[in-house]
Amino acid sequence: MGFENYEVWFVTGAQLLYGGDAVIAVDAHSNEIVKGLNSSGNLPVKVIYKGTVNSAREVTDTFKAANNEEKCIGVITWMHTFSPAKMWIHGLQELKKPLLHFHTQFNKEIPWETMDMDFMNLNQSAHGDREFGHMVTRMRKNRKVVVGHWQDAEAQAKIAVWMRVSAGWADAQDMRIIRFGDQMNNVAVTDGDKVEAELRLGYHVDYYPIANLVAVLNKVTDEEIQALVATYEEEYTITEAQKKDAHFVNQVKEAARGEIALRRFLSEKGAKAFTTNFDDLAGIDQLPGLACQRLMAEGYGFGAEGDWKTAALFRTMWFMGQGLPKGCSFLEDYTLNFDGEKSAILQAHMLEVCPLIAEHKPKLEVHPLGIGGKNDPARLVFTSKQGEGVAATIIDMGNRFRLIVNKVDCIKSKELPKLPVASSLWIPQPNLEVGAAAWILAGGTHHTSFSYDLTVEYLEDYAEIAGIEMVVIDNNTTISEFKKELRMNEIYYMLNKALC
Ligand code: MN
Repeated sequence: MGFENYEVWFVTGAQLLYGGDAVIAVDAHSNEIVKGLNSSGNLPVKVIYKGTVNSAREVTDTFKAANNEEKCIGVITWMHTFSPAKMWIHGLQELKKPLLHFHTQFNKEIPWETMDMDFMNLNQSAHGDREFGHMVTRMRKNRKVVVGHWQDAEAQAKIAVWMRVSAGWADAQDMRIIRFGDQMNNVAVTDGDKVEAELRLGYHVDYYPIANLVAVLNKVTDEEIQALVATYEEEYTITEAQKKDAHFVNQVKEAARGEIALRRFLSEKGAKAFTTNFDDLAGIDQLPGLACQRLMAEGYGFGAEGDWKTAALFRTMWFMGQGLPKGCSFLEDYTLNFDGEKSAILQAHMLEVCPLIAEHKPKLEVHPLGIGGKNDPARLVFTSKQGEGVAATIIDMGNRFRLIVNKVDCIKSKELPKLPVASSLWIPQPNLEVGAAAWILAGGTHHTSFSYDLTVEYLEDYAEIAGIEMVVIDNNTTISEFKKELRMNEIYYMLNKALC
């Protein structure tokens, strides 16, 4: 975890036409740019300068090396001089890592008084980057294009987003998702083609019988449980009355036992995400609520009722957002609140909402659960922060995956005295009527992966790298335009499939 083990390569395009002095100057400028990027404090992943490339051979060798270097999560290209793009063809055919084309320039402003033809021969990114861009487009290769001076914080912020996404992408390429139980009976939207998901998104989805977890659970010691319960007491609000309530104490201990077993099982199997099924809990005391909440906060992807796609997407969104302040969660569209312009959707689940999004210290509670037929589960109860966020889902359209993203405005929620679960309350942009209608027309799930910290730009970069469809619902969305986009995409992906 973390970004410190990753690196992004910076490759400068040039050619030998302008002589040895030009090559030396290009190299010196590139070094200075990379040093400037690294010392800006704005980039989460270190940039490694890999030299100038002046020929097809050098491009191909550099990109092949990038493919083979596990630490390298992406490549930034920049054309200092004019770099004829036929020399990039073979290298681009080889490149398997995410690509960012940085359209920048060594000098910030035009040196009006001193600029001569030697300066122009050396500083050609204005047209050199267009030549390169043409070839990438001609080859139908997805990439992010960032335009801006390299010392400009806004340009650096766009690179930073792409770096976080590229790290999330690298993390997803060996993502093992463990499912305890299958999909809930007959549920469609949470299912999909697991073979295609591994081909396209990197997810490896495995089933394990709950009995395997029970075997681990039975070996958890009382000392381990005591230590974890002490952590609960530190991190959550627990009243004196609760501490004296034998039923509460026992159910929290059982929840701790479940959490220790789950974490151990996932860690032993090298899994980054998991799903549960409340109909498949033989040998378990209670539906794991608290455990799922806490494991999500640690970065394990979670999806309820067998929802492996949301589990994986949560993991990726958590990974991208590491170190950012407001948090993320698995959520479900729970119930609607029709209130004119403020019409909103209560977001919750039976138990499993990630405490990273809590606005106050969560309360630890034990209550009966009217489904699943197990003992009373422990859960964290809280309301969530206010502010803008993104809700996202990946659905399987049969011939492709579609990423649906809705910008949402989280508003002040209320306590639910008779429904003790964690929750959030949001207005989907542009409003409930249009936002929810668009989501339904796009075929979106009732489960989402939600983040306060990520913006649409992150998910757009992710969809580009993955090569999957993406539709955005925000304040600019109208139903008639959105329907047209869905129809156009239908044709695009049909043709795209035929061409591939
Ligand atoms: Mn659900």
